This record gives sequence, C-alpha cells and structure tokens, in this order.
Amino acid sequence: ADLEQLYVHESVENVIPKEAFVEAFSDLSIPAELVGDGREYTETDAVVTYVPRPEFLDAGWVHCARAGYDAFDTEAYAAAGIPLTNSSGIHGATVGEVAIGCMLSLARLLHVYRDHQNATEWYTPKYERPFTVENERLCVLGLGTIGEGIATRADGLGMEVVGVRRSNEPVPGVSEIYDPDELHEAISEARFVAVTLPHTPETDGLLSTAEFEAMREDSYLVNVARGPIVDEDALIAALEDGEIAGAALDVFETEPLPEESPLWDMEEVIVMPHKGSATNRYHLDIAELVTGNVERYQSGEELRNRVA
Ligand code: NDP
Repeated sequence: ADLEQLYVHESVENVIPKEAFVEAFSDLSIPAELVGDGREYTETDAVVTYVPRPEFLDAGWVHCARAGYDAFDTEAYAAAGIPLTNSSGIHGATVGEVAIGCMLSLARLLHVYRDHQNATEWYTPKYERPFTVENERLCVLGLGTIGEGIATRADGLGMEVVGVRRSNEPVPGVSEIYDPDELHEAISEARFVAVTLPHTPETDGLLSTAEFEAMREDSYLVNVARGPIVDEDALIAALEDGEIAGAALDVFETEPLPEESPLWDMEEVIVMPHKGSATNRYHLDIAELVTGNVERYQSGEELRNRVA
C-alpha cells in the first residue's frame, strides 16, 4: 500500500526543532503531522521518530532520526516486516568537524587556554606540551560516514591516517586498514584514536584496560560514537594512571554525564554534551533523507539506509 501520511513523533525535539522539521515537509507528496504517544498506526503511515515505541510496529515504515539505532529492536521490525531506516550518511561533515576540532584543541591546548581565560589568566604551558597534528598518526575505529568524514579532513591536515573496519573496503584518506582482530596493532602507534563505530554487541566495551595499555602514553581518545563502546571506568583509571594523555568525549555510558563523574574535572578531557551532529540545518539534512525515502517507498524502490 502507498503511504498516505507522515507522522513526526515529538521525540525528534531531542535533536531538532520539531515545528521547523514538520515545515521542511511542506512540499512532500503526503501530509506531515506532529504526534505524541498513544496514537494507532496503519500500514499507510510513515513515522519519523527519535525513540522507539511499540505502536510504531503497526506503521508501514519507521525512520529513526539518528544514525545510532541501537535503542530499536531490529528483530521485532524484521519479524513484523516493517522497514526501519536510520539517519546515517549525513554526519560526515558535522561530526567529522567536531572530531577534528577536538584533536586540534588537544594538540594546541585551546581548551586549556579557555579554562585559564575563565580565571583571567595569561597562561604559559610547559614548552613540551603543544604539538602539531601534522605528521601525527590517527587511527579511526569504524570507517563509515563519520569515519571517512574524519579521515579525509585529517588527511587534509597532513596526518597519517589508518583505520579499522570489518570489510577491507578502502576509504579516501586512509592509508592502511586493519581487521577488528588486529585492534591492538592498529591503535598502538597512534597519537589519536577516534571511535566512530556503531554500538553493537561486538563493539560494546571494545575499548577497556588492555586497549588503553596498548595505546601510547601520549595518545588521546576521541569518542564521537556511543558511550558504551568505551568502558568508562577503565578510561577514567587509564587517564588517572597516565596510560593515555587525554580524551575528547561527546558520548557517555550515562547521559547527561553525572555530576560526580571525575571526567568533568580533568584538564586533559574535553566533555561535550552529545552535540557532535548539532548544526542549524540538521533538521533539513534529515528531512532530505526522509523525503527521498518517501519517494522511493511510493515507487516501490529499495529504501536508503534500511537497517531492518
Ligand atoms: P556507518 O554505518 O556509516 O559507519 C559505521 C562503520 O563501522 C561501518 O563502515 C562499518 O564498516 C564499521 N563497523 C561496524 N561494526 C564494526 C566492528 N565490529 N568492527 C569494526 N568496524 C565496524 O555509521 P556512521 O558513520 O554514520 O555513524 C557511526 C556511529 O556514530 C553511529 O552508529 C552512531 O552511534 C554514532 N553517531 C554519533 C553522533 C553524535 O552526535 N556524536 C551522530 C551520529 C552518529 P564495516 O562494515 O566494514 O565493518
């Protein structure tokens, strides 16, 4: 059956202004309407949402307004025969720039100067501390949209970029690709390790004590993917023990990061409020993706970004 209605679940406001998002569908071939919980759906309905709800399994198609769809029960979607799509493919520049900005800051101490600015202090760091990212080695874990977004930008800055993915498919800007079972070898020589993996049973807790021991003591972890991919207690211990030099974290095991987390007070840790993809046109990027899929659905084509 063709789609007759697009429903935008109000949970999208976690990441985008919901009214502006609905407005972005004004030229769509079917009407778009904002909804809350408690509605019933039929197979002629499409739903765009940030959170999963059991009633969405009665719709014709469900789109997750995030790239990470780990909160959705993909098996239930597959069993119900309802296509589930995600918002991958649009975060290369947005999250990529944040990761690059973090590496530049960690290397050139921008975050440290801002800390001292807050105290009106003209601060001079130790001579040995600042370095250029140029010629430094970056290892990118996961080489999809975001991994490539970081890799090409890092390559442009003159960094030596290697990466890890399951398929050996080459990626622009990446000089060497390692297998997941060569993880330690891949990260051991890197000055920066950037995590851009999806959170799956395979990647849960992937970076823990042994990995931080394998990393250089002057290396930095950049996690812009999902908190649980990194064992946070092990990370805190590694930072405290000097196993690694610092970290830039956009994601955490618990979000918002609890007040009592030691990460807040570490000078060499940049804490970001899961805003790696936040820009003033994020709603338009997602709307474009959804619009393309409405057209594909109506003409019986395979949906882009189908994950179940
Ligand atoms: P993609 O699906 O484009 O890329 C993920 C890549 O990871 C794939 O290319 C895949 O390559 C690789 N991969 C998957 N599993 C493994 C594994 N076990 N070991 C090694 N490599 C693996 O996703 P995106 O780049 O768009 O996003 C990645 C993640 O970033 C999302 O899942 C989401 O959780 C997070 N994210 C965070 C945001 C933020 O605001 N901070 C915003 C958007 C996304 P291969 O198949 O070859 O292994």
